Parts: sequence; structure tokens; C-alpha cells
Amino acid sequence: MHAGQCHRPSRPPLSRDMEQVMKRLNLGTDITTGLENREFAMVYQPIVRISNGSIVGFEALMRWNHPEYGFVPPDKFIPVAEEMLSITKLTQFALSEACEALQKFRGEIAQSDELYVSVNISGVDIGQTDFPNFLDHVLDQNGLDQRHLRLELTETALVPASDIASANLQRLQEQGFKIAVDDFGTGYSNLAYLKHLPLTVLKIDRAFAGDAHENAVSKRIVRMLVTLGDELGVDIVAEGLETQRSADALRDLGCLFAQGYHYYKPMPANKALDALNSGRQCSDVA
Ligand code: C2E
Ligand code: CA
Ligand code: CA
Repeated sequence: MHAGQCHRPSRPPLSRDMEQVMKRLNLGTDITTGLENREFAMVYQPIVRISNGSIVGFEALMRWNHPEYGFVPPDKFIPVAEEMLSITKLTQFALSEACEALQKFRGEIAQSDELYVSVNISGVDIGQTDFPNFLDHVLDQNGLDQRHLRLELTETALVPASDIASANLQRLQEQGFKIAVDDFGTGYSNLAYLKHLPLTVLKIDRAFAGDAHENAVSKRIVRMLVTLGDELGVDIVAEGLETQRSADALRDLGCLFAQGYHYYKPMPANKALDALNSGRQCSDVA
């Protein structure tokens, strides 16, 4: 060391765990600035009627184009946003964008009254006092009503973690909101929550729906879930159908609705509108 040079004790290297924590913290901060900088966008995956392929609705999915890391998948940033509580802002963004897109589709497509958009909601959102008010506000702003918006929650998120969450779920029920159970069959083994909620849809997870044509266990599970859906009087949507064979298998098992790459990949709103236009023509002809 040269004379006069200030000696700083060198920092001990970060442990792998600590590195992960720092990365998550950075990502958490980036979410807030990313929202301000319009780095987030919604894409829409059509949900179709299996019998004729016509589009009945869309699932809204979030995309993040990070200035440094590029595309960050939602599987990576949603859990961080949930931990940092920035999820509320992301969900508000998703709801606003999705309702605006749906209203645009409805303006341009004849006989689109039943068309809906389905938005992923986190368990953290359900625990926020203001959540039902925000839903009212976003529907109002876009001239929509409860029929046009489905809220997708996983089984874990549907088991209320607080009194506020319980009260909110009850209020959503009273207001007639449509709730879809996402990834159905993968999470909670206690199905008691099914009794108390205004469930409209069970979405069968890709883990079963995707290979029911070639896996005997998946096929049995799908059959059981379809029967359960019938008993409860709710729609069943199969997720992650990638081939004609898997679509045929789900149709033969009595499932009416599906989404997956076999039909459409998630796409920006303008492409979704094109799909809606050409899809309508196909089903009109059929
Ligand atoms: P999810 O709600 O189960 O969404 C379905 C995921 O499966 C999406 O992945 C979709 O792009 C993908 N997918 C659809 N069809 C197929 C297929 O045929 N094959 C395969 N391999 N995949 C298919 P994505 O967009 O990466 O989203 C992953 C998860 O991130 C979502 O799973 C959801 O849990 C979460 N997520 C996405 N957007 C949002 C959002 O706006 N809010 C919240 N809270 N979570 C979101
Ligand atoms: Ca979903
Ligand atoms: Ca799902």
C-alpha cells in the first residue's frame, strides 16, 4: 500500500443467500420505477369454446421489459412484488389495462356482450381494505359490469388469511363478482373453501390438462375435476392445451372451455382484437 492511501477493510463476499436477498430487493425497487417508466404491459390469451374454437374471453397476463435484464417472467417478479407489497400497484395496473382493452373489443365486435376478461389476483390484494372499491371504480370507468370481469385466484389465495380478506371475499360474493380458481388441483387439499365462495370457474392446471391424452392418471384426475365442476354448477377451463390430441381428449372428457398454445399464445391487445375478428368469422361460418 502507498503512503497516505486510505485503507478500507475489504467487504466480506456476500453469501449466496445474501446475494439472492439483494437481488430480490433490487427487483422490488425496480418494480416501482418500472411502473412509472411504463416497462410493464399486458398480453391477452384467448379462452375458447372447445367445440368450435370460438373465443369466449381472454386471460390477461403481465409482461415486464426490464431495461437491464430484458424480459423478466411473471413467475419471477410476481412473488417479489407480493413480498414487497408492490403487487397492489401491479394488480391495479393489470385491472385498468384489461378492462380498457375489453371495453375496446366490445366497441368493435358485434354481439360481444358475454365476452369477458380474466385477471390474476394475488392473495395480498384480497387482504387490502380498498380492493373491492378499486374493482367498482375500474368497472365504472370502463362502462363494464361484474359479468365482464373474472378474478383468477389460486386455492391458497382463496383461503382468507385475515379478517379483511374474509370480509372482502364476502363483499365480492354479494356484489356478484365471478371468481375462477386458478391451477385447480395443484394446491390446497382441503376443498371446504368451495362451499363458501361465488365460484364461477375451475381452471384445470396444465399439469393434468396438458397430458390427459397420454397419461392415465392425469386423465382420471381431469375426469374427476370435470364431474366436480358439473356438481358445483361451474364452468371448467382446461389450461395449457398444446396439441389437437390434448384438445380432443379434454372435449371427450366433457370439458367445454380451454386455453393453450394449440389455440393461441398470449398476445398484445391489437392482435387479440384481430383474433377475435377472425375467430368470429370462423364460428359464424361453422
Ligand atoms: P397462470 O395464471 O397459470 O397463467 C398461465 C401461464 O401458462 C401463462 O404463463 C401462459 O403464458 C402460460 N401458457 C398458456 N398456454 C400455455 C401452453 O399451452 N403451454 C405452456 N407451456 N404454457 C402456457 P405466464 O404468462 O408466464 O404467467 C405465469 C404465471 O405468472 C401465471 O400463471 C400467474 O400465476 C402469474 N401472472 C401472470 N400475470 C399476472 C398478473 O397480472 N398478476 C398476477 N398476480 N400474476 C400473474
Ligand atoms: Ca391465471
Ligand atoms: Ca393457471
